[in-house]
Amino acid sequence: MTALRVEGLHFAYPDGTPALHGVDLTLAPGERVALLGPNGAGKTTLVLHLNGILHGGAGTIDVAGARVDPSDRAGLAEVRRRVGLVFQDPDDQLFMPTVAEDVAFGPQNLGVRGPELKERVDEALAAVGMSEHRDQVPHHLSFGQRRRVAVATVLAMRPEILVLDEPSSNLDPASRRELAEILEPLPVTVLMVTHDLPYALQLCPRAVILDAGRIVADGPTADILTDE
Ligand code: ADP
Ligand code: ADP
Repeated sequence: MTALRVEGLHFAYPDGTPALHGVDLTLAPGERVALLGPNGAGKTTLVLHLNGILHGGAGTIDVAGARVDPSDRAGLAEVRRRVGLVFQDPDDQLFMPTVAEDVAFGPQNLGVRGPELKERVDEALAAVGMSEHRDQVPHHLSFGQRRRVAVATVLAMRPEILVLDEPSSNLDPASRRELAEILEPLPVTVLMVTHDLPYALQLCPRAVILDAGRIVADGPTADILTDE
């Protein structure tokens, strides 16, 4: 069983900009992988394919054995439950009047109600150390706190794969450390887009380098970073 299998993924944007040229990537359950590479390499494009936000090119994606097929709406809903995407900008993810309502939004959408909903919200907020801020207005929190709430909104969906786009960007050293301590013990498969090499080394035993739409290196993070 694989957590994620991407095979032969090709994609160009509608304006013709090529972005992915035959990407193959397999993640085992529980694996933690850093996705590295220069600006414009295709990292965000790849990540947006994992739950069907982008589609239309060639290739296949399977999440825990289920095909990501954007023409299958029910299937796509299941994939979006399994793949939790944390965007680079938390403000893209927070839009409810309170922190708790933002965290409840995803599971509510899945039809979760009552005690299970409360349990999921409590658990996700506790996992990111934000329980005491549950009734606050998200936009009144610090940037680091908003990023942690954005992670909680995804954890409340109980994803099998957590995909993070630049999780340490714009964080001061204390918030950066706090987030690493939150991410480290989570019992999920992790794919993390990052330019932060120390973060990749600390949190991800394996790293993949994407360059101009192709995977050009894949191996132990320490080896990949010394070869750079
Ligand atoms: P990365 O996340 O590694 O910086 P992206 O996936 O954002 O790379 O970009 C891959 C390529 O696709 C780049 O050439 C980028 O300019 C282009 N690109 C990204 N988004 C769009 C878009 N919405 N329309 C057209 N081209 C895009
Ligand atoms: P990242 O830091 O994730 O690599 P990018 O700079 O690649 O961010 O992209 C930021 C935003 O701009 C994304 O929403 C991306 O889709 C969009 N974008 C990037 N390149 C282009 C492009 N050539 N044309 C249109 N939109 C683009």
